[in-house]
Formats: sequence, structure tokens, C-alpha cells
Amino acid sequence: MSTLPLVFDAPRRGRPPRHLADLDPAERRAAVGELGLPGFRADQLARHYFGRFTADVEQMTDLPAAARATLAELLPPLVVPVLEQECDGGATRKTLWKGHDGTRAESVLMGYPDRATVCISSQAGCGMACPFCATGQGGLDRNLSTAEIVEQVRQAAAAARDGALGRPARLSNVVFMGMGEPLANYRRVVDAVRRITAPAPDGLGISARGVTVSTVGLVPAIDKLAAEGLPVTLAVSLHTPDDELRDTLVPVNNRWKVDEVLDAARRYATATGRRVSIEYALIRDVNDHPWRADLLAKKLAQRIGKHRVHVNLIPLNPTPGSEWDASPRPVQDEFVRRVQDAGVACTVRDTRGREIAAACGQLAASEA
Ligand code: SAH
Repeated sequence: MSTLPLVFDAPRRGRPPRHLADLDPAERRAAVGELGLPGFRADQLARHYFGRFTADVEQMTDLPAAARATLAELLPPLVVPVLEQECDGGATRKTLWKGHDGTRAESVLMGYPDRATVCISSQAGCGMACPFCATGQGGLDRNLSTAEIVEQVRQAAAAARDGALGRPARLSNVVFMGMGEPLANYRRVVDAVRRITAPAPDGLGISARGVTVSTVGLVPAIDKLAAEGLPVTLAVSLHTPDDELRDTLVPVNNRWKVDEVLDAARRYATATGRRVSIEYALIRDVNDHPWRADLLAKKLAQRIGKHRVHVNLIPLNPTPGSEWDASPRPVQDEFVRRVQDAGVACTVRDTRGREIAAACGQLAASEA
């Protein structure tokens, strides 16, 4: 593990300045026109930014120097790394970054033999208050802008290409499992997904099938997302199949109950043809009981359909100061076996980045 402190200053809050990645192709041409340049300069700029992951105008040598200086206005530094950590022999890299106003958020790049994944933040902080989650303890700072979300992916794609994971790799997967509740920042997140998945030079060209949006279960927003025509994978952070416990583990359950969330997940699977992922952080003696495994499998089979759902178990990554811990291995194995025996796919997520506190919000929390 290595730690590299880069910059320090005090947080302030505010709306980020306009950035190329906030704009769709027509808006980009209009913005370039407002700067007094012809529309085709916008396309050139987009080819560098989305097609080559370049945000430094000095590298855009096919543009005249004067145009470069003008166009820099559309590429303000929105996501500035302040701390970088790596572990797993360099296959996991976590970046704490600051926004233009000092706001902190984080992203994690992970390399696998067959793919490279970046886990990104959709908000600085989070308002969902889940008691086992480090980010949930700090509350919501602010929504990230579309460009702040896209910038995390653009920088990760450039880093992967340039060998940050040990060899040149193509960024294939993007998961909204960093800080924040993506569906509580709906418009900006959907715009960011469009920019991430549009083919270059309009977007970063990452397949929508490689993008996962994870949510606590905001039912109306799940239905809205199903209608966007974006075949991204939906992950629902369920964590228990019963309302009594979920009311405390995922407080938004007081608004939308387990069955309502699962019904929305089924509608999503039907509309998109995509299998839904159910996230379940196993917490010792809290939600790891055999009867909960049985009830989980039963409800998923009844409400979503055995073949349209996949359970992703996450061994709890304990947050500092919490009395909760991961389940013992035999309890975890029994939980997996019971879900699988009921015919529902169930796997245990690999726990990358534990030693660099790469569980939701832990790096930002430790730096604060
Ligand atoms: N707000 C969204 C996305 C961010 S969290 C959501 O809740 O889905 C991504 C996943 O990490 C969620 O499933 C979340 O419940 C889980 N998580 C948060 N803190 C964790 C911890 N300490 N250990 C294990 N999983 C955790």
C-alpha cells in the first residue's frame, strides 16, 4: 500500500462551472460558438476529450494555439486528485479528489484479468443515512454535476489505458457504488450515463451493459430509469428481505417497502431485459440468519423471477467506530447455499481495497 498526499485546503461549497462533459453535441457547438469559434471546433474538442480521454488543451496540437486557449474555458479542472492509494499489488487504486469548491469525493479503479472497472461517486456525501455505511454517517454535502461524474470515468479510462493497473487496459465497466445515492441525483446521473455510453466522439463509448446503477430503492426513480431506454444494470441495495429490519438498515424503507422495491425491480428487468442485481451486505448476527436467506430467495423468486435476479453478497466492511462486523465464514457459506438451493443465483463479491478503506466513503471520512 502506498499513500500520496497531493493538495490540501479547506472545503467550500458551490455549483461547478460549466464543462464540456455537461453538454450534449448541440450544446457543445452552441457553447463553442459563444466563445467566437466555428462549430467544428466543438467536434475536434470532443474527439480529444471523449475519444482520447485528453482534457489538456496543450496536447490538442491540431488546434491553433489561440483556439486552444479559448477552448480551455470548457475544460475547467473539476475533479482534482488530492490523495491516491493503491493495494492488491497495484490492481486497486483509490482516488480521493476535490471539486472546484473543495468538496471531497472518491473513485476506485480495479483491474481484473478480463476487465477494468471504475467505482464512481454520484454525490459528495449521501443523504440516505444507512447506519453501516461510512458515507451515510456524514450526510449529504452536494450533488455532483454531470461533468464531475463523467470526469471520474474519463480520468479512470486514461489511467487504465496508460498502464496504471500494471499494463494497458481498456476501461470496460462503470459502477455507481461510490459515494452517494445516484437516483437522488437523477437528471445529472442519467445525463452522465448517456455521455459515458455514447460512442466516441459523442461519448466515452463504454457499453451500457457494462454500467451498473446501484440504489437504495427509490421506486419512482427506478420506474423512470426503466423508461430511459438505457440498458444499464440496476443494483438494488436490499440488505434484508423483511421490512422490520430494513426500516433501520436502509431508512428509506420507511417510505418504500421491500415488496414495492422488488416489484419496481421486476418492472425494470421486464422493461430492459437485464438481470437485476440484489446487493446484500452480510452483517454478523444482524441480517445473516438462515431464515433470512430462505425468505430472501422466496421473495426474489416470487416477485422478480429466479432467472431475472442475482444476489451479490458483500462481506460487511466495518466502518470505524461501529460495533458491526462481517459474518463468520461458515455463516456466509450457509447463507449462499440456501439462496442457491432455492434456485436463485448468488455469489460473494470480492472485497477489493479493504486495506485502503475503499468501502463506501471510508477514505473521505478518514481524511476528514
Ligand atoms: N447509494 C447507493 C450506491 C452507493 S453504496 C446504494 O446504496 O446502492 C454501494 C454499495 O455498498 C451499496 O450496496 C451499499 O449498501 C454498500 N455498502 C455501503 N457501506 C458498506 C459497508 N460498510 N460494507 C459493505 N457494503 C457497504
